Amino acid sequence: MSKGRDLKPHIGIFGRRNNGKSSLINLMTGQEVAIVSEEAGTTTDPVKKSIEIFGIGPAIIVDTAGIDDSGELGEKRVKKTYDAIKTIDCAILVIAKNEFGFYEKELIKKFCDYSIPYFIVHNKSDLQPLEQLTRENIATFSKAEVIDFSVANHTQTDTLVELLKKTIPETSFQKPSLLGGIIEPNGVVLLVTPIDSEAPDGRMILPQVMAIRDVLDNDNICIVLKETHLKQYFEQHKPEPQLVITDSQAFEFVNSIVPAHVPLTSFSIVFARLRGDFDHYIQGTPTLSELNDGDKILILESCSHQVSCEDIGRHKLPKWITEFSGKKLDFDVVAGLSDIPEITNYRMVIQCGGCVVTRKQLINRLRPAVNANIPVSNYGMTIAWINGIFDRVIEPFKNKINS
Ligand code: SF4
Repeated sequence: MSKGRDLKPHIGIFGRRNNGKSSLINLMTGQEVAIVSEEAGTTTDPVKKSIEIFGIGPAIIVDTAGIDDSGELGEKRVKKTYDAIKTIDCAILVIAKNEFGFYEKELIKKFCDYSIPYFIVHNKSDLQPLEQLTRENIATFSKAEVIDFSVANHTQTDTLVELLKKTIPETSFQKPSLLGGIIEPNGVVLLVTPIDSEAPDGRMILPQVMAIRDVLDNDNICIVLKETHLKQYFEQHKPEPQLVITDSQAFEFVNSIVPAHVPLTSFSIVFARLRGDFDHYIQGTPTLSELNDGDKILILESCSHQVSCEDIGRHKLPKWITEFSGKKLDFDVVAGLSDIPEITNYRMVIQCGGCVVTRKQLINRLRPAVNANIPVSNYGMTIAWINGIFDRVIEPFKNKINS
């Protein structure tokens, strides 16, 4: 299941069948979003619905199948429920009838594996209130807050929303700035955007559009130009830009023109700070100089259809890395959120800019590699390394905070 272009915070609802997850969602959204039935196991694939939460704004509720489902189909549904954990920002674990055991503990372990904040709702309290013994049982395993709740009586809805607001990470609903902390107000930022055969017809790509808006939001003059006008700009125009951001593929050419004292980076690297695992990319990129014959490299692209970076991920990067290393290498490309092959088979992982996913989603995508100490990099940093300008293009981010 993909977040696709839904960059709003995602709230997953988890629990056993017939604990009232779908009814809880209908209460929160004020709509019949989920199929509600007395028959256990009505929800199959995770179902998403936009809601508006006061104090948070738009969010996406993700309704999942019961975690205690069984049989061949049931196991598939449970797998999809676990997969959904990687795509959410916060979780509500719905229990009922004072049952807290194996299924809940397995879910909580997964939440912890993926650093998902959560709280617990003991639902159907009108039928059976939460007992002190259950509270104590939960407390031995989890520090999460627990509320006694009844969808049937609509009691404590305000408490539920307040708890949700407290639990959901601020970073998942605040709009962080691409360039915040890197540029000062009232300067000039140059965006170098080659318009070649790979550029989409009649429009700019998303990272370029976002960068233009962010330059303006940071009270700067934004100048957008093709690389063919870069020399002319530096010869004829003042003031000098405080930052130049280019398409990574034009690094070699742009680096040869932008004076050494003018900070230079790329759209992909700017995005890596916002959406990627920036520090691990910096640590992992030098591995490109340590590759050996037979090494396998995994290339991860975050969008699965209309991939703007298809050519670079599938053709150019493998070609450039092979030429740079002089080694015989194997490359695998995995697009979207498809399952990634056994990660320990790879010498390193190279992730695209991830312009269509959230930071949380991208971090969780890279987590198996990071946990297995497999170096990770991104497209921009990889191209910079190959061109010998890695230090220059990460310099603008040194000792800077991401505001
Ligand atoms: S950077 Fe990644 S997510 Fe963005 S267009 Fe390219 S492949 Fe898709």
